[in-house]
Amino acid sequence: MRQGRPDILIVGGGSAGCALANRLSADGSTRVLVLEAGRRDWRWDVFIHMPAGLATPIGNRFYDWKYESQPEPHMEGRRIYHARGKVLGGSSSINGMIFQRGNPLDYERWAAEPGMETWDFAHCLPYFKRMEDCLAAAPDDPFRGHRGPLGLERGPAASPLFEAFFAAVQQAGYPLTEDVNGARQEGFAMFDRNIRRGRRLSAARAYLHPVLGRPNLELRCRVQIARVLLEGGQAVGVETVKGERIRASEVILCGGAIGSPQLLQLSGIGDPEHLRSIGVEPRHELRGVGENLQDHLEVYVQHTCTQPVSLQPSLRRRRAPWIGFQWLFLRRGPGATNHFEAGGFVRSNDEVAYPNLMFHFLPLAIRYDGSQPEGGHGYQVHIGPMYSDARGSVRITSADPRGKPALRFNYLSTDQDRREWVEAIRCTRRILGQPAFAPFDGGETSPGPSVETDEEILDWVRRDAETALHPSCSCAMGVGEQAVIDPLTMRVHGVDGLRVVDASVFPYVPNGNIYAPTMMVAEKAADLILGATPLEPERTPYYKHPLSATSGSAGGDPDAGQTPEAAGARPETAPSWHRAS
Ligand SMILES: Cc1cc2nc3c(=O)[nH]c(=O)nc-3n(C[C@H](O)[C@H](O)[C@H](O)COP(=O)(O)OP(=O)(O)OC[C@H]3O[C@@H](n4cnc5c(N)ncnc54)[C@H](O)[C@@H]3O)c2cc1C
Repeated sequence: MRQGRPDILIVGGGSAGCALANRLSADGSTRVLVLEAGRRDWRWDVFIHMPAGLATPIGNRFYDWKYESQPEPHMEGRRIYHARGKVLGGSSSINGMIFQRGNPLDYERWAAEPGMETWDFAHCLPYFKRMEDCLAAAPDDPFRGHRGPLGLERGPAASPLFEAFFAAVQQAGYPLTEDVNGARQEGFAMFDRNIRRGRRLSAARAYLHPVLGRPNLELRCRVQIARVLLEGGQAVGVETVKGERIRASEVILCGGAIGSPQLLQLSGIGDPEHLRSIGVEPRHELRGVGENLQDHLEVYVQHTCTQPVSLQPSLRRRRAPWIGFQWLFLRRGPGATNHFEAGGFVRSNDEVAYPNLMFHFLPLAIRYDGSQPEGGHGYQVHIGPMYSDARGSVRITSADPRGKPALRFNYLSTDQDRREWVEAIRCTRRILGQPAFAPFDGGETSPGPSVETDEEILDWVRRDAETALHPSCSCAMGVGEQAVIDPLTMRVHGVDGLRVVDASVFPYVPNGNIYAPTMMVAEKAADLILGATPLEPERTPYYKHPLSATSGSAGGDPDAGQTPEAAGARPETAPSWHRAS
């Protein structure tokens, strides 16, 4: 540390870690040290900064922790690959750059848990706004921010295949919506993305690099932490895997949904029987550490395209130099987009209170790891249920900090999950089978026409589905027996000087991609940690389907939104979020 012992030590310079580093060092007097296991996100690294390079870091040890689940019992024993960013910026340096807040009702569901009252949408909205600079929104849009570090571009989703997609969803009976992060999530729209002037805008670029000159902020990369040092119920610093001890007044874990529970368990905080069984001395009993793990699973429904209008040619090797040239010198062309420019949110049945399926449309047929089907042009929809009731765990298997923890997700283990998967595929097929696609449709190649019955669909999902890369909730906020983090302070229950701020603290995975919710948590946590006056809650009316008026209040007019009073209505038990009574 340039000025001696740090006041705050942030473990993990990932998405939440970069946001916290910025906010906590802003007053100039708090000395903040960020320790990141991965390397720097160098300016020359095109695989980070060129949006279309997003497939390359996955599976590459220079960027990715390369996790794998345990054999999943309901997925034919498959081990599901889990990428996680191991580089400055964390997963925000390798993610798909899709920016989704989730549904406002996700946060009402959070706030319905004991002790979580200040995490309802009204309290979260000002922090969502503080983080962003949304170029597509009107200056007076009460839902969107314009002065935050995270610049957001939208769309452009302007090609014959995107046009066909928007026409097809309407032919299938679904509405368009102006902004899925605005007053109404339900429907189809162009998506916001973390791209600015053709470059990825990671949390490191948005929050950390601009303030690295602050004398009270220090960053050390390639420093992996092995455990938190505890003295009599108080965190006093950390030990690195190389044995270096770094002391600080306060430690904040921002290691992500896998890294943070792993570090707590390595430090002796968790379920005492589990810890003893693998040779770790229990220091503090907290049985929820690593439990409650949630995620989104997804598949791609792929079609070949009969017209030369997909983005498939941009994948040809001989086009790479031209695309690279365009991106490098003009920040334009196929290299400057993540290709996830549009999609939407749908309720798959009339019992769910708000959308339970998310769609991404891609004018291209390609898997996340870059593999493509045989043949020429194609397009695909990414689809998956958003609030599965399957729960899993992160558990270390030895005291070795270099070892990987055992990840169990229990995908497809519940009736609800299986039912929604069948609905998801039928809904996707209904959209892709509409007349708007007729001029382009060369037939479904995956799963293909032989997959028809409910059981065939589930078999295919078991064989083919991949994670949508949203592990979360493994150190959940709350006050109950399984809760790990105090929602008012972000402190680990029962341990002084130790907090967790990242995707692991969600009580429930939100309905959408989870980067934006992670950054909202970090923004709000910064105020809680600093003891700053929290931003005023904003009770702005938002769209709620009539079915979601579960506690007796009116649900509001589906087209016109709803009253602020109805917006505040909450159901009494968690399951009613899913099955509207
Ligand atoms: C390939 C991929 C694509 C995705 N696409 C999208 C998308 O398009 N949109 C979206 O919203 N979400 C997406 N996500 C998810 C989203 O990016 C993450 O959920 C979110 O960024 C998590 O933030 P975090 O702060 O919890 O963790 P991270 O950003 O992963 O940060 C954790 C950091 O801690 C470091 N760390 C961990 N353990 C240690 C240790 N022991 N010592 C030191 N450092 C440590 C890690 O190296 C990492 O830098 C994607 C994720 C991946 C991996």
